[in-house]
Amino acid sequence: MRRFWLNPIIAIVAFAMTISVLGADTVANKDRTVLSDGKYRELFGALPPHGKESDPEFMEILRKFIFGEVFYTGDLDDRTRELLTITALSASQALPQLKGHINAALNIGVKPLEVREAIYGFAPSMGFPKTLNAISVMNEVFAQRKITLPPSKNIVKESERYEKGRALRYPLYGDKTNKSLEGLPEELKTEVSKLVIEFNFGDFYTRDGLSTAKRELLRVALLATDGSEKEQIKTHAIGALKAGNDKDTILAAMVHLIPYIGLPKALKAIEAVKDLDESDAAQNADAIFPKGARGPAEWFSGTVWVSTLANPNDMEGLYSVGSVTFEAGARTYWHTHPLGQVLLVIDGEGWYQERGKPARFLVKGDVVTIPKNTEHWHGAVNKSSFTHIAITNLKDGSNVTWLKPVTDKEYSETNR
Ligand code: MN
Repeated sequence: MRRFWLNPIIAIVAFAMTISVLGADTVANKDRTVLSDGKYRELFGALPPHGKESDPEFMEILRKFIFGEVFYTGDLDDRTRELLTITALSASQALPQLKGHINAALNIGVKPLEVREAIYGFAPSMGFPKTLNAISVMNEVFAQRKITLPPSKNIVKESERYEKGRALRYPLYGDKTNKSLEGLPEELKTEVSKLVIEFNFGDFYTRDGLSTAKRELLRVALLATDGSEKEQIKTHAIGALKAGNDKDTILAAMVHLIPYIGLPKALKAIEAVKDLDESDAAQNADAIFPKGARGPAEWFSGTVWVSTLANPNDMEGLYSVGSVTFEAGARTYWHTHPLGQVLLVIDGEGWYQERGKPARFLVKGDVVTIPKNTEHWHGAVNKSSFTHIAITNLKDGSNVTWLKPVTDKEYSETNR
């Protein structure tokens, strides 16, 4: 120490560094206080009670960090930030803070219906008891603000919980059964898979008031709050991407959670999202429509992506429209359509073949009209991918009967 101060050069450098650090610190603190005060007033309707509360030093640290720093990190609108905060506070049952942030959300323009649907939708991920606690806080806020909400306009019919739930889940997760259910006796596995789809997607995702993209983003936040495994967070982050969120949004959301769930959980979630295999959810930049989710192995050979563009439920049950992308060598099984199908080829090179007839080579712009009850297959050539739009009529709620796979021998004869 003594030697240090005896060396004039080191002393001068050290003095200069002290000044510059102090200077930078003072400026940064001032900025954070200004930013924090402004944001706090937007959210809570008044300036913070500087120095007039218990633990004033701690509260300054808290406010400057949350409202003067985290709110300005990453590209995320404040309404989404408050929905994320509501998610984290509900999942961790921080009920006094939840009350403050439901008020804040409403103050900055989050619709009461969005708040209700977000909180109702937590039930499949965090269970009914915690959800009921969050609902009671919400109702307290709504009562104070004299907000009354009508029932949902879209309450799923008992007979449609599975079909509608599956239609909403399919573009995000395909027909992949939840990994945790693998190895269960087949009958129980089928029953539990059905229950999972009916409960999460059938009962909640079908309701109006909150987009599927927002629901998926909030679910990632909920899993992060719970400290879920990285693999599980990643699976749902891919779902959130497919639902229409971009990776930057999901990452910014995880950063936003830091003050509410703490660094270890937030950093774990950031790591899971950062590691996303983007090709899993990536859309071909030239593609007209989203690639969608992997098609089920009971219908297709090879890698096939299916994206629902118009759901029969929205088309009076008459027809469906989807975009199907086959990677090189991939194809459908042999199948029939009860009232026929139209294929509009939009990319790549492929084949269409009716049983007993030569295959027809297809390129972009080709149209195929497939007669009813006619056995056929379609798919990519062996050296190129192939994308078509399929418009398929329904008869008695069904639009296809799947038969046997197109064998390698049948396929290679076509490609010869
Ligand atoms: Mn077909």
